[in-house]
Amino acid sequence: MVKIKEVQVGSYLTASKLPDADWVVNPYVGCPHKCIYCYAEFMKRFTNHTEEDWGNFLDIKLTNKPTQIDKIGNASVLFGSVTDAYNPYEKKYELTRKILSEFIGSNAKVEILTKSDLVTRDIDLLKKITDLRVGISMNTLDDSFRKLTEPHASSVDKRIEALKILHDSGIKTYLFMSPIFPQITRFNDIVEYVQPFADSFYFENLNLRAGYLPRVLSFISENYPEHLEIYNAIYRKKDMNYWEQLSNEINTYCHNAKLDFKLYFYHDKIKKGAKHND
Ligand code: SF4
Repeated sequence: MVKIKEVQVGSYLTASKLPDADWVVNPYVGCPHKCIYCYAEFMKRFTNHTEEDWGNFLDIKLTNKPTQIDKIGNASVLFGSVTDAYNPYEKKYELTRKILSEFIGSNAKVEILTKSDLVTRDIDLLKKITDLRVGISMNTLDDSFRKLTEPHASSVDKRIEALKILHDSGIKTYLFMSPIFPQITRFNDIVEYVQPFADSFYFENLNLRAGYLPRVLSFISENYPEHLEIYNAIYRKKDMNYWEQLSNEINTYCHNAKLDFKLYFYHDKIKKGAKHND
């Protein structure tokens, strides 16, 4: 049961420190998708939710003030950096839809990243935003793995269908393969499957921080004991060999397939984003 609360905020726009976004819009606090590896759990500390489990609360952000789109000019804006702007409650509250409508006629570079097919509800609106891309995040073709790790996000089939519908509607799309689970995510199978509907590909490794590292390692121990040794090597002993080898494989594969792609692998430790299509 998700505890819903309405909260008043000053603005939906927040200046961002992310490498590829100048601003972020998170219409909600919390995320009912409840992915077991969610890095955004740290938001509990900043939003008076320390007693609650991540995924069990959702604050609906409300404001009477306009979003002040003009002040950001042609800067980039990412919808959904610490929530999924198309979580199931968006169906009822339509906050994302309302904020997106304010971007019609602006020069901003708008980007939406989601694990939900609900984004297709807004195709009418998305088509009216001049500079817009939609990314679907997915790390498996196996829906039983998806159910275990992203219990309340859209199924694999629905996400692929959403990518197809968006692409067929003339909207720029990308597949954000994240997080890549060592030994479990089959990057080439996924790329081959969705290639007809994705204009670009981004890859990000599974990055485990202290708070949720034990949770994910016990998930692996319970469900994939055959991979536990390699997870311990990566996440306990900090052995980078697996990622270095995988980043080389992805680079070679994507260059050969002439894909537009970028790697977000341990940003500072392994080679920064490989160049596209060169
Ligand atoms: S969809 Fe994103 S923000 Fe929501 S729980 Fe999953 S990882 Fe976290």
